Parts: sequence; structure tokens; C-alpha cells
Amino acid sequence: MEQLKANTPFRAQLQCIECGETYDLYQVLYRCRKCDGLIDVVHDFQALKQIPAGKWKDTFSDRFRYPGFPYSSGVWGKKEWVLPEIDVEHVVSLGEGATPLIPVPRLAREYGLASLEVKQCGVSHTGSFKDLGMTVLVSHVVSLRARGIPIRAVACASTGDTSAALAAYASAAGIPVIVFLPEGKISTAQLVQPLSSGAIVISLETDFDGCMDIVRSVTTDESIYLANSMNPLRIEGQKTISVELAQQRGWKLPDWIVIPGGNLGNVSALAQGIRLLKENGMIDRVPKICVAQSARANPLYLSFQKGLGELQRVQAEKTLASAIQIGNPVSYPRAVRALKDFQGVVEQATEDELANAAARADLHGLFNDPHTGVALACTEKLVSNGTIQSGESVVVISTAHGLKFSEFKTGYHDGTLHDVKARSGNQPIRLPAREDLVRQAIEDRVGRVS
Ligand SMILES: *Cc1c(COP(=O)(O)O)cnc(C)c1O
Ligand SMILES: [Zn+2]
Repeated sequence: MEQLKANTPFRAQLQCIECGETYDLYQVLYRCRKCDGLIDVVHDFQALKQIPAGKWKDTFSDRFRYPGFPYSSGVWGKKEWVLPEIDVEHVVSLGEGATPLIPVPRLAREYGLASLEVKQCGVSHTGSFKDLGMTVLVSHVVSLRARGIPIRAVACASTGDTSAALAAYASAAGIPVIVFLPEGKISTAQLVQPLSSGAIVISLETDFDGCMDIVRSVTTDESIYLANSMNPLRIEGQKTISVELAQQRGWKLPDWIVIPGGNLGNVSALAQGIRLLKENGMIDRVPKICVAQSARANPLYLSFQKGLGELQRVQAEKTLASAIQIGNPVSYPRAVRALKDFQGVVEQATEDELANAAARADLHGLFNDPHTGVALACTEKLVSNGTIQSGESVVVISTAHGLKFSEFKTGYHDGTLHDVKARSGNQPIRLPAREDLVRQAIEDRVGRVS
């Protein structure tokens, strides 16, 4: 496997997004010490640019699904753009990334679009895109510990997928994990994942925002490391979504990328990846971004309506899209920057819209979780109102695997979801084991059976 070398080494450091203050990468820091701004990992562009774009493309393509640790991972195949200095022996990878990009041409026609593809980020070890960030964060913790920084445990607040991913990666590394979950607000699969990994699971009678307040306070003890996406190491892994997407589309991004948003780390990561691609001369044109929210947890939507000034915090209400039931998103300033840089819009979907959009797209080979349903519903709405034009290409970021949300899927087809009128519901045909009745049932649906 080829190692790229520039005359000056590839390097990354921490930088405040507000005041620009820089910090060494190898310290525990989640907010600027000067102004309390959010922190980015920034790369040395001069070093990266010594490698021509064509060379980066060839290298990333050669490594894609290459059978060698850790470059076969969709994230670590881009190691120089992620954590260039980390020792390979510190990398904790569970084969994340390199997820399918699936064209759905008939659904595109139904929506009135030239091209629609779905990036299946949930086809991953713990069933969501959170794996992309956690492999980087947990690997970084291993390298911090190797440098003598005393980290006893990693901790996060979660709407279900962050905790599943953190628990899996930390257990692979043998690092203790503490997760804070909002009681009764996550799926059964999401609860059993960190339990299986042996995590300390603390279920709190509050919502995600309440869990977030507590984890921020607990992690002021620097030996308990914060793993929420406020931590920029997560963003570093997640930004490879954009690179992988460009790679899978012959180094061209679509006209639009539609992505569900909760705490808004993922849209920030998406934007960061696009900036890096542009900066390194890998793409000519940048896409527009749509952040899709549930109408019951829509602080970004409301803020967008008011021109993206102050965040319009809300008390998030119960929604089928439980992983984005967040009223006070930590990465709001990063998301504003993403929307401004990429002609962004924000759309919202009701419970009925998201559930039906997910089910309708399932009829095209997919198996959608409710968050992907939100993104699909918003895509449909933006095409109908002319924001997305019929000749444009769209990629929907699917954030989780539908199998993690079996209550949502069965509830839809049983017709028992609140506020949802199931338009694509399907039920088993229950019959006695009699051939005549079976033949009749088939004939009723597909015509004469000989
Ligand atoms: C975490 C998550 C999101 C939201 O991502 P943010 O970075 O919080 O905006 C969307 N969908 C699923 C399935 C998630 O797990
Ligand atoms: Zn600052």
C-alpha cells in the first residue's frame, strides 16, 4: 500500500471557529479557552497541495476496499486528510465507511427528478453513520493515552446511535464507556447495543438536550473524554462522507445533497469534506445542501426562516425520527457556516410525510429508517415547490439502517403509528394451508396461475 509523502509533513491542529486561536491536536479541548467558540481540526493545506489532485484520486481509489488494515476502511483510506500523524497501531477500525451509493431511477421519475441516489451510511458496523466519527475519536483517544494523557473513560449523550457506535469502538479498544440516554426515547436495538458492549448505560428521565447538559458537566473532568460531535474529532471522520461520495460519482458531486439534521454535526462534517475536496482541486463544482428536519424538532428550520441569526431553540417534541429529536443543537454555528457556504436550505417533514416517504422508497429496494424518511420527504417537497429543479441530480444521505427501527417499520405496516395514515402499508395474507385458496390469492393479484 502506497504511502504518500510531501516535502513538509502532513499536519493537523485544533482551531477555534470564532476567533481563530490555534491549539495543539494532542490536548483535551472541546471549546476555545479564549472565547468559548467551537473547535475545528484544521489541516496544513500547503502540505496537502504538494500532492496533485490526480494522485490523491488514484491513491484513494486504490485503497477503496483494499484488503489491508486500516486503509480498507472508507475513513482510513483517507488517513492523510483525517489524522495524518496517527500511528497505524493506534487505529481502532471496525470496517466502517465504503458504504453503497444506490441509484433509484424509478423513484427519481416519480419525484420528477433527473437523478436520485441514496448514500447508505447505515450499512455499517453499528448501523449508522456515527461509526465514521467514532473510529477517529476512539483511535485518537488511544493515541492520547499512549502519550501519557490520563483518560479513564469516554462518555456521550445520545439519541441512540452515538452511544451504540461509541460503545462498540471503545469496547474494541478496551476503554470504559459511559453513555447517557433519554429514558424511553430510543429504539430497542439502540438500547441493547451499548448494553451488549458492556457500557455503563445511564438512562435519564429527560430528553437528549438534558443528557447533553449532564455529559458536558461530567466531562469537565478531563479524564472522562467527551465523545459528542461538539468534539471535532468526530467531524473529521464523518467528513469522509463527501470524499467517498465524490469518489463513487467519478469525482463529481451532485447538484444537491439532502441530509437529516439533529445536533448538526453531520451537516457540518459534510460541508467540511466538500471544502477539502475543493481546496485540493479534486472537484470543479460544489453542491447545494438541504438540511432536513422533523417538524417536531425543527430549531434549524425556524432559524433559517429568520435568516440564520440567533438559534431558535425549541423544546423538541416526540417524533418517529427519534435520533434527531433535538431542540438545542450544539453545532448550530458550524451548520450556519455550511448553509451559507453551500447555498443551503432547510426543509421540514411531518410524521405522516416522513413515514410515507420512507415506505414509498422501500418499494425501490431500500429499507429506510425514519431519518432517511425525513430527508426523502423533504426532497419531494423541494422538488414540488421548485427549489430543486427537475433537471438536477440529488443525493440523499441515509443515516441509519432500517433494521434498527423495527418498531417504526412494523408500526407503519400494522397501521398503528400515531398521526400517520399509511399509504404503502402491506400485510401478510393469512390463509389455511390449502392450495386452492393459495392459487386464488395469487390470481387475485397477478392473474391466472396455470
Ligand atoms: C445522529 C443521527 C442524525 C443526526 O445527525 P446530527 O449530526 O446530530 O445532525 C440523523 N440520523 C440518524 C439516524 C442519526 O443517528
Ligand atoms: Zn476562540
